[in-house]
Amino acid sequence: MLSPVSFLVVAIMSCAVSMAVFSSLLRADIPGLPRWIGANALLAVALGLLALQAPMPARMVILIGSALLAAAALLMLQGCRQFFGLRPSHSFEYVAYGALMLAIVYWQYVSPNVNARAALMSAFLAYIRIVIGWITYKLRPPDRPKYGYYFMSVVAFLGAAIHLSRSLVCMLGWEHQTSFLAPTPMNIAFLGLGILTLPALSAGVVMLAHDRMAERMERLANVDGLTGALVRRAFLVRAEALLSDAKRSRLPLSIAILDLDKFKAINDEHGHAVGDRTLAHFASTVSGGLRSGDIFARLGGEEFAILCPSTGQADTIRLMDRFRAQVASSRWTISSGAVPCTFSAGVDEYREGDTFADMMARADAALYAAKALGRDCVVGTSLAAGQRVRSVQGESTSA
Ligand code: GH3
Ligand code: MG
Ligand code: MG
Repeated sequence: MLSPVSFLVVAIMSCAVSMAVFSSLLRADIPGLPRWIGANALLAVALGLLALQAPMPARMVILIGSALLAAAALLMLQGCRQFFGLRPSHSFEYVAYGALMLAIVYWQYVSPNVNARAALMSAFLAYIRIVIGWITYKLRPPDRPKYGYYFMSVVAFLGAAIHLSRSLVCMLGWEHQTSFLAPTPMNIAFLGLGILTLPALSAGVVMLAHDRMAERMERLANVDGLTGALVRRAFLVRAEALLSDAKRSRLPLSIAILDLDKFKAINDEHGHAVGDRTLAHFASTVSGGLRSGDIFARLGGEEFAILCPSTGQADTIRLMDRFRAQVASSRWTISSGAVPCTFSAGVDEYREGDTFADMMARADAALYAAKALGRDCVVGTSLAAGQRVRSVQGESTSA
């Protein structure tokens, strides 16, 4: 039988299932998830009270049920904000919540008006859904699969449309209700549709949580924990893609291979831990100066690579020389004094018919030459005649 109460019972069961599923994800420490669990718990109690209409006087049931329903919606919104790293609560929303409760008390006890109550409550729930939909759409991560984020915002906007329609219908008096949850066709339609959006929203939350976990795993697999640079395997995948782009677009693509100078001596003199911190210091100095689109990777040990799309060799040499000067002059000190930190780099540019391995091999040879030239310098291989350009302390000379 389609009755408002049967819909409420289905919704309670959906809340219980959502809580069980969300709880299974708690160990993953997804921001906002505890609030979503709390919201479903409040919702289940609220719907239970409304369905049973007991064990309190009916007017009290409606009052408490409405308070819990609105609080659950607010908690969902806060969970959503937390998930996206936003401040979860805003004071005006607590003020709106208080005003909503006062209005419900007024239309319940002072001047009874079922339609006004329902219109206001639905408007509040619509606001919550709109903000959830908007935040999810607006803050979807650009480099992640979009499906879950679009699903969540579409469901939230559909929910908002249902609540808004109900609010309008009640406000305009098209539905004359004498009692709450009267089994009118309109009430049944709105309740049925509104309640259908609850499990859909929960499915959206699970998709978002799943994507966050997948993102973490991918990060763990692709990013070096010590330096924040891409690991070699992920770098080679990106490099092949950039090489194909360069071939297609006929724009230049340059590579630089960087190797810290006399790094073994740092380990030997100050210990492995200081060696690690030196690597992190070097990486943060370099990555702070990269342009968007540049790819920075740790090839292994104290050897790194930078790929510069749409950039020719001369510009890449200038960029590397700027990094070289920054790293050499950065005051990297520990308690026992300054730790010398310099690097040498070899730079090369894509040439027609190259594989990526060809580029790597030439940049590697240029790096070898930089070491032979005394380190703390950048060497490139000119496109014309394999001519070497040495750049030391900001001065470029041909050799
Ligand atoms: P060069 O100027 O010729 O490059 O000399 P180098 O001492 O930097 O080069 P070498 O290849 O002789 O030594 C590299 C050292 O880097 C040896 C290795 O123990 C150390 N190393 C490699 N990976 C790590 C790491 O993750 N942490 C630390 N602390 N040391 C590392
Ligand atoms: Mg080295
Ligand atoms: Mg090395």
